[in-house]
Amino acid sequence: MLRWAEVHLDRLIRNFKKIEELSKKRIYAVVKANAYGHGSVQVAKTLEENTSVYGFCVATYEEGAELRQSGIKKPILVMSSTISEGKKFLKEYRLTPVVYDFDELKLVKELSVSFHLKIDTGMGRLGFLESEWNKLLEEIRETKLIGVMTHFSSADEDYEYTKFQLKKFKSFVDKLKRKFNKVEVHSENSAAVRFKLNGILTHSRVGLSLYGVEPCEGYPKLEQVMEVKAKVLTVKELPPNFSVSYSRTYRTNKKERIAVVSFGYADGYPRELSNRGKFLLNGELCPIRGKVCMDMTVVSVNNVKVEKDDTAIIYGEEIPFKEVSKEIGKIPYELMCSISQRVRRIYV
Ligand code: PLP
Repeated sequence: MLRWAEVHLDRLIRNFKKIEELSKKRIYAVVKANAYGHGSVQVAKTLEENTSVYGFCVATYEEGAELRQSGIKKPILVMSSTISEGKKFLKEYRLTPVVYDFDELKLVKELSVSFHLKIDTGMGRLGFLESEWNKLLEEIRETKLIGVMTHFSSADEDYEYTKFQLKKFKSFVDKLKRKFNKVEVHSENSAAVRFKLNGILTHSRVGLSLYGVEPCEGYPKLEQVMEVKAKVLTVKELPPNFSVSYSRTYRTNKKERIAVVSFGYADGYPRELSNRGKFLLNGELCPIRGKVCMDMTVVSVNNVKVEKDDTAIIYGEEIPFKEVSKEIGKIPYELMCSISQRVRRIYV
């Protein structure tokens, strides 16, 4: 195998326990987008079998159906799809839609299924705006509403705005509770969990932190769950003044030993890291030379003991998603979700 991602399920369990301790609420694990690239079935199974996870959040009905087909029993919330997409799966797989506009509401009423509502308290994305709340409260009277949620836009960086959103959410929830006093109420993502928000919230919805990436400063230390590795295809010494990779953006000054590593942008490695990123080989951080290619990347291995078939660490403890993403103005979510299908996931 030339390229693979080791997913450390024991770390996932330990991260879950830390987050649960911090949140002090029931936890929905966010496993959309193939559990941020980690493999949604394995992640959900591990959490269902080894922790007190309450349920799972996915983006699409297909993602939810896949979890049910693999034997997942706990509640599954579908957060950003349409009822018309989900009609054929909803009942068969006991998937719970999140309703965010009146078209969706009409359809859940027709189907008579349980659902959560989404309120827009300042994210400016999905959810009912304050101007719609009176009509909404009228229209949900005879429905099977079981939960209500909102989403914080800036919990990693703005406590005041998060408090503003929470206050607005509370004003809706207070009205709702006159009719539905047993609904689940949730809003916190990974970053918001650190605020220890008390009061109306019953559940948290966390993704990033489960996978071992601290969403902001001042967060408890977590363990990165995924380590991405690839084999060295060849090692050779280039002569002085020799150019490396497409467009000749790097040229050797003197003789330079290079290793060609079988990991490129088709595997999800950002091309922006051409001449900037580093891979870990034999305990040494080796700088990338030239442009990242589709299937390969060249690193400098002067004075590093490296041979053909050695393993390079692309992302790991010493090269965390968080640090690498910061360097190129991306977020760790993007890097994790970009690890492509051809990088085999190995569960350890
Ligand atoms: N809730 C919603 C609606 C989301 O879209 C997301 C992630 O994008 C989350 C919760 C989880 O956020 P995080 O991964 O930052 O914990």
